[in-house]
Amino acid sequence: MKFKINDVEYEIIEVNQNEFIKTKEEAQDENYFLWGQTRFDTFKVLIYKDLPIGQKRKTLMHELMHIYLKSYITNENLENITEEIMCDISANSHDIINKIVIEYFKNTTS
Ligand SMILES: [Zn+2]
Repeated sequence: MKFKINDVEYEIIEVNQNEFIKTKEEAQDENYFLWGQTRFDTFKVLIYKDLPIGQKRKTLMHELMHIYLKSYITNENLENITEEIMCDISANSHDIINKIVIEYFKNTTS
């Protein structure tokens, strides 16, 4: 599914574990295992296809938050973030992210 955040289009795709691997080191690491990853170079959100539905939703939300932060909080130093800023980010991002997640899972039964 394709979606836009701040006028930039991304695509969500569900993948096998081997599709996360980009480097020789990752390929050789037997513990390398990801639930999701956002590729800002190709504007793709990769989600591990075999996750249980609840974890898949949380993983998608997590990746969408990375995109939200990159799109809207570009000048913020996220290492020194305060509770007030965190609450603001959550309040401002919630509807945007939830709308995408609902759309993505609308034909899922569980
Ligand atoms: Zn992350």
